[in-house]
Amino acid sequence: MLSVWSDNSNFQKREPLKGEKRTQVLVIGGGAAGILCAEELKSRGADCILAEADRLCKGVTQNTTAKITAQHGFIYDSIIKKKGCEQAKMYFEANENAVKKYRELCRGIDCDFEDGDNAVYTLTDARKAEKELDALLRLGADAEFNSSLPIPVKIQGAVRLKNQAQFNPLKFFSEISKNIECYEHTKIFEIRQNTAFFAGGSIHAEHIVIATHFPFINKYGGYFAKLYQERSYAVYFENGPKLDGMYIDEAAGGLSFRNYKDGIIVGGGAHRTGKPGEGWTAVKNFAAEKLPGCREKYRWAAQDCMSLDKIPYIGKYSKRTGNLYAVTGFNKWGMTSSMAAAGIISDMIFSKNNDYAEAFSPSRSIFTLQLAVNAAETAAGLMSLSKKRCPHLGCALKWNNAEHSWDCPCHGSRFTETGKLIENPATDDLKN
Ligand SMILES: Cc1cc2nc3c(=O)[nH]c(=O)nc-3n(C[C@H](O)[C@H](O)[C@H](O)COP(=O)(O)OP(=O)(O)OC[C@H]3O[C@@H](n4cnc5c(N)ncnc54)[C@H](O)[C@@H]3O)c2cc1C
Repeated sequence: MLSVWSDNSNFQKREPLKGEKRTQVLVIGGGAAGILCAEELKSRGADCILAEADRLCKGVTQNTTAKITAQHGFIYDSIIKKKGCEQAKMYFEANENAVKKYRELCRGIDCDFEDGDNAVYTLTDARKAEKELDALLRLGADAEFNSSLPIPVKIQGAVRLKNQAQFNPLKFFSEISKNIECYEHTKIFEIRQNTAFFAGGSIHAEHIVIATHFPFINKYGGYFAKLYQERSYAVYFENGPKLDGMYIDEAAGGLSFRNYKDGIIVGGGAHRTGKPGEGWTAVKNFAAEKLPGCREKYRWAAQDCMSLDKIPYIGKYSKRTGNLYAVTGFNKWGMTSSMAAAGIISDMIFSKNNDYAEAFSPSRSIFTLQLAVNAAETAAGLMSLSKKRCPHLGCALKWNNAEHSWDCPCHGSRFTETGKLIENPATDDLKN
């Protein structure tokens, strides 16, 4: 299953690393987060190398829908209520600044970057949109209420955030990674003190940034409790209607829309990985009814790490792990979050104050309802009887009929029918 981006991507091939190496900063993982962190560190003069287990951008980043926006669903009303206006402002500004930084960087790069508004709509309750608009206006956002949108969906209300953007992520990341010292097929399996080990040697670094999507060190940070994964489905239809902007339903599992060239990307059908879902059915049914004349050209699925409070974890890996950093939990908004992470992590490494670091700290309080849900899922997964067990923490795997894979409902690892690892946090294939 190739996404609309990956069919045409053009990454320069990088050699695997061999032997021993020393560097100031090691970034582990070559997706959006790792590349942006490495690029920012390098631009500030750090001696930095990036180690990627596979090829650059072969993880979630090749399957994103690449909307560059600070509007991540109806979240600001909720953040203000739960954490206060200051924290909400930090989150908003960090992401708005990320949109601006993309705009600057994309100026010199051929990556189909387009300015446009983003809108989040509700099918059920206009009051929700009104409250979210109030919240955004309190934060100083350039936002407005819309009672209809140029998409074939009957909405109750929407909040439009102005001056956002969309692009082709792989054209962007292939260009921006060109000047970074990257090693492909270099999978880090262990970190001891300040040394990271891979099959052919080791890398000693003063600072190590873990940008592997789901962090792979279980001993510290409690990421196995703080994260779960959500799978979503996307289709690119040729000959789609011109939408003039990006659109997404505020409801879990709802649809999202954006154009790319003369086509339209429709996403939706999200569910916790390993739990029953309907695959591409929602998108296909919608298209059959509302997009006559459009022809499916690509279809793909992907998953992202979801944090407990809908705010990513960016900063020190844990209180006990020195110069080790985590960037994860992007809640399906990793384009701007990765850019925000690049600034926060670089400031931390250069001992510079960062106004937004506190809001994203991985060591913030984790006592949320979602923590209880994650714990219950893990308990159920551990107690379920099944021969197929995840090598990550031992949960029972579930068969995914839409994609013919074995998926873990606890933390979202996935394996092919024959047991080959597809998605982390597991690091190994299934044992027969
Ligand atoms: C369907 C879908 C639509 C989305 N749409 C949007 C959107 O419109 N806008 C938006 O902002 N966000 C969106 N997102 C979210 C965004 O795509 C992700 O948050 C982002 O791509 C994650 O990037 P990453 O670098 O963390 O992960 P990845 O791209 O997965 O990169 C992690 C890399 O680490 C490597 N790795 C793993 N383990 C190791 C190891 N031990 N050693 C070395 N390397 C390792 C992997 O091989 C991989 O290349 C969407 C997500 C999904 C699922």
